[in-house]
Formats: sequence, C-alpha cells, structure tokens
Amino acid sequence: MSILVVGSVAYDSVETPFGVRERVLGGSATYFSTCASYFSDVSLVAVVGDDFARQDRRFLEGRGVDLAGLVTEKGETFHWSGRYQGDMNEAETLDTRLNVFETFTPDLPEAYRSISTLFLANIDPELQLQVLDQMEKPAVTACDTMNFWIEGKRDALLELLPRLDILLLNEAEARSLSGETNTVRAARVIRDTLGPRRVVVKRGEFGVLVCGPDGFFGAPAFPLETVIDPTGAGDTFAGGFIGALDRDGTGDEASFRRAVAYGTVMASFTVEDFSLDRLKRLEQTEIDQRFAAYLAGTRI
Ligand code: AMP
Repeated sequence: MSILVVGSVAYDSVETPFGVRERVLGGSATYFSTCASYFSDVSLVAVVGDDFARQDRRFLEGRGVDLAGLVTEKGETFHWSGRYQGDMNEAETLDTRLNVFETFTPDLPEAYRSISTLFLANIDPELQLQVLDQMEKPAVTACDTMNFWIEGKRDALLELLPRLDILLLNEAEARSLSGETNTVRAARVIRDTLGPRRVVVKRGEFGVLVCGPDGFFGAPAFPLETVIDPTGAGDTFAGGFIGALDRDGTGDEASFRRAVAYGTVMASFTVEDFSLDRLKRLEQTEIDQRFAAYLAGTRI
C-alpha cells in the first residue's frame, strides 16, 4: 500500500511563548509525509522555490519520501508566519505568501495515478481538485483544510467535499464551514449536508471528535505537560492517522480507531519542539512505547 500527498512545503516563521524561529522548515505536506513515512510508502506532490535548501530535501529523502513529484521553480518557497499565545490551541496567522504555489499546476507522474490512498493536505482546494482529477480511483481520499481556504476558496472546497472519505479540520474551521457554533452539531451538519463520509474535528489539547457512519467517537490528546510549538500538530496527526490506516488496509471501524490513536501519538511528538526538530530525532521504539502508554491511559 502507499500514499500520495499534495500540500504545502514551506518555510515558516513562528512565535510561541517558548521562543521565535525564522524561516524554518514547515508545510502541511512536509509534516504529513515525514510522519506517514513511519507507517507506509509516501510520494509527495508540491512545488518549492530555488531557495529550498538541499539539506531539507535530503531530510525528506532520508525518510524515504518519493520526491519525483516535488517540482522546483524559480522564485521563493511558500512562506507562512504565525503566532501562538495562551493555551496555544489555535494559530494566529500573521502572513501567508503563496509564492511559487501561486502559479503551480500539478502534473502527476504516471506511476502516482494508481496509488491507493490520497491525502490532500492543506493547500488551495483548486489544486486539491486538480490532483484528485488525475487519480484513477483511490480506495481512500482524505483532505485537510483551513480558514484561509474556507473563506477564500469556498466554492472549490464545496465541490471537493462530496468526493471525500475523510475530512479533517479544526474546531474553528468546522464552525466556519458549517455556520454552527456547537462543535458536535457542526461536525454532524458537515457530514450530513456537505458530503464527506467521515468528519474528524481536531480540538488541540482536547483531542479529536469523529463523526462517521457509526455515530460519534472521541479520542483525547496524549497528555503533555509542556508544548513548545503546536505548528504541524494537525498535519502530523493526519500523517500518523492516514499512515496507520493505509498500513492496516482493512478499513473497518477498529482499524479506524487504532489509526486515530497513532495520529494522536505522532502529533504529541511534533509539538515537543519547533519545526520538524522533534521528528528529526524520533525513533520507532518511542512511537511504540507512547502508543502503548496512550492505549493504557485511555482504557476505561
Ligand atoms: P498545522 O498542522 O495546521 O499546524 O499546519 C501548519 C503548517 O501549515 C505550517 O507549516 C504552514 O507552513 C502550513 N500552512 C499554513 N497556512 C497554510 C495555507 N494557507 N495553505 C497551506 N499550508 C499552510
């Protein structure tokens, strides 16, 4: 089994109560593919500028991510700046520069079109649609988005939603997309009226709420006393979750719930340091141990 991801590969400038980092490696597809690579084969479709550092490309290659679909264009790599304050459950976007993404039209390598699992990481929904249209018939199609696109490209997003098995979004985004203030109701309304088979609402330190064909299901976050930088938590949740789903391949409810637990565990590592620094030193044994601890801690 394998996974195709399209999304941003970025340089981020981030401020949290623990410090400031300028132009560090980030991007929805970067976090996702790094995490999913612990579970399955991953191929990445994105564009970077000619400022993209060789060591960042080498890091992704080192994780075994197939970069045949990573195009380099003249210009600057996508740049996002954000700030986290207080409980750090939500990012405040200070600036988004699409740069080389502004003119990017994905043309999938032939071998990518038959990949079984497609993850449309957070990026322009028009681009997400272009990738989905080039795929033969993925067994699982999942998508993440954010307010920037819900507000700026709503029509394209609404066109995409009925074609999804799984939609991931955070609480504020679920409210904005549905027009509902209650998160449970927002998830149910999105599923019933906008088309995705399952809606996974990310609630920061409170974990996730899933609305699917079997009703609701909730999973708490892994308990951490110190969170340094929440950037990428959602994308690494998706990487662990979709990665584990793809590796398991059964598609039943038990496998879905186990995948949610893996996503939760992967997100808990990311937030322990800035950028992808914690993931750069993450060992498989740490994932196994934390997964076991999470299961023990959530058993009732
Ligand atoms: P999250 O998992 O939601 O914390 O995602 C953080 C990553 O999303 C950062 O590394 C950013 O580079 C990236 N990002 C922020 N805004 C956008 C956007 N509008 N489109 C695509 N990626 C974005």
